[in-house]
Amino acid sequence: MPLSGGMTCPNLDGTKGTRGCSYCNNKSFSPVWDLAHVSVRDQLETRIPPLRAKYPEAGILAYFQPYTNTYAPVERLREIFSPAFEHPEIAGVAVGTRPDCLPEATVALLAEFNQKKPVIVEIGLQTANDRTLEKIHRGHSVGDFKEAVRRVQGSGLLVTTHLILGLPGETISDFMETARVVRDLDISAVKIHPLHIVRGTQMAEQYAAGEFALLSFDAYCDAVASVIRVLGPGVAIERFSGESPDDLLIAPDWSGNRNQIVARVEANLQSF
Ligand code: SF4
Repeated sequence: MPLSGGMTCPNLDGTKGTRGCSYCNNKSFSPVWDLAHVSVRDQLETRIPPLRAKYPEAGILAYFQPYTNTYAPVERLREIFSPAFEHPEIAGVAVGTRPDCLPEATVALLAEFNQKKPVIVEIGLQTANDRTLEKIHRGHSVGDFKEAVRRVQGSGLLVTTHLILGLPGETISDFMETARVVRDLDISAVKIHPLHIVRGTQMAEQYAAGEFALLSFDAYCDAVASVIRVLGPGVAIERFSGESPDDLLIAPDWSGNRNQIVARVEANLQSF
């Protein structure tokens, strides 16, 4: 269940940059991007009943999703996260963040919460190619990611990550190297997405200018299967498709075909 913690991101507020990662438009990937003014307690009270009605037996994961959800002083983070840990319907909490927003005090707070309910720290990587990270203005390096992952895991927390396949200039060898880095770090789970070009981003301008091409449906599905093979059975795959709202998505036009993507990737995996 996505929740807004009401935070921003160092890549947007001027600390690291003001335009964000070049592909980023939070409106396109988080249904709660505009709920910063609603308290976490109120979001829980509003969103849990319909979810519970639809899934009477399921455990509910509170997922602090948009922007960077550890980008606040530790006592403010305690106030933001506490309602989720106190709510009897919440089975666990996932916190989406960046490698450069996990100081020791924040990790210690998450480890403390982890004693109450399981905490998943989702640290965005996207690619393990430093040249690409620079090109897309992520504002951190692969080394920063590795260092953060090891510290967070060292505190007993589960770490998951996000990967984007199809970033400008990357090929299958980049995707495979990214998968090797993730596997070798013992990351628990990954979400894999095709690169989406969405309105209001720097990448939309670059794409319109013909600076790069997107992966085809076939190339993306084959790349996902190759990445899953490299990751191996020790890394859970949380998803390998992703949708953006129609009014924001520019390309690719196949990214909403979730069932076709799943079928094609599964067929590819079974052919080996
Ligand atoms: S770190 Fe996340 S929220 Fe911040 S600019 Fe990049 S993708 Fe957007």
